[in-house]
Amino acid sequence: MSAQLLDGKALAAKIEEEIRARAARFSATSGRQAKLAAVLVGEDPASQVYVRNKEKACHRAGLGSILHRLPASSTQAELLHLVAQLNAADDVDGILVQLPLPPAIDATAVLDAVHPLKDVDCFHPENVGRLAQGRPRFLPCTPHGVQQILARNNLPVAGKHVVVVGRSEIVGKPLALLMMQRDSHLGEGAANATVTICHSRTPNLADVTRSADVLIAAIGKPRMITGEMVRRGAIVVDVGINRVGDKLVGDCDFASVAEVASHLTPVPGGIGPLTIVMLLENTLRAAELRTGA
Ligand code: NAP
Repeated sequence: MSAQLLDGKALAAKIEEEIRARAARFSATSGRQAKLAAVLVGEDPASQVYVRNKEKACHRAGLGSILHRLPASSTQAELLHLVAQLNAADDVDGILVQLPLPPAIDATAVLDAVHPLKDVDCFHPENVGRLAQGRPRFLPCTPHGVQQILARNNLPVAGKHVVVVGRSEIVGKPLALLMMQRDSHLGEGAANATVTICHSRTPNLADVTRSADVLIAAIGKPRMITGEMVRRGAIVVDVGINRVGDKLVGDCDFASVAEVASHLTPVPGGIGPLTIVMLLENTLRAAELRTGA
């Protein structure tokens, strides 16, 4: 292996410390903790783990959290009623509706119902629109985690060719927006990339990925990106989290990509932990914005 591993777990712990200090300042000024309300519908095992990890991280960082569990049989009206209550609750700063929702529920309608000032996942059209216009209120958690791991390892993307494989609303599309902005709170070097987005209809995918200085895989297909698809010396960020048997693997074939890449994020321990701290950061930001504290 020649690639240097980018340790998302260690970086997440460092950023969590920074958030803890800021959260303590918020609590001292406002007299209460910034608080995240999570909504979990049904019994999906992976969702239960994700929500539990987010709650634990809130507690470690000095943020409050509350979990609302609804049965899988819940109706859309019941879920919308809960979201309306959380929107109105003065002590709730961020609302997270854990996806996926049961198929009978219109997830878009539920996400659109979250108040834009409490939309810590940055899924509301108002917040996505602000991001697209280069004046974001919140930064989407997973894309922001990618931007952080690159910036804090002194790997600028400015002027580089960044290829994003995946165009989902949660990862690929907002990540491309972040990379192509004129500026970033992490400095101009963390933005200003020349961005190409690939998806399942992209012909000759390997030709495009091999042209990347920075290759970001957000596909959801275990080990799909192989070493032959990566230019020697490229930086590779693996966002994928796929369960194969009892193992979690990324979208990159770790062994062959590590042979050619200069830097690579592992799975697990790469972007996953950063996604959670970026959620904490958004919750604290939501609290600060709404209360002026
Ligand atoms: P998604 O909504 O299923 O989107 C997958 C994207 O990959 C789509 O744009 C799809 O293209 C594209 N794609 C699928 N097969 C392809 C192929 N053969 N060639 C090129 N493109 C292909 O998934 P997602 O929500 O973005 O998540 C992607 C991965 O990231 C998953 O493994 C997920 O678990 C993981 N994830 C990780 C975190 C984290 O915290 N680390 C957070 C969120 C997601 P089309 O649009 O044409 O269908």
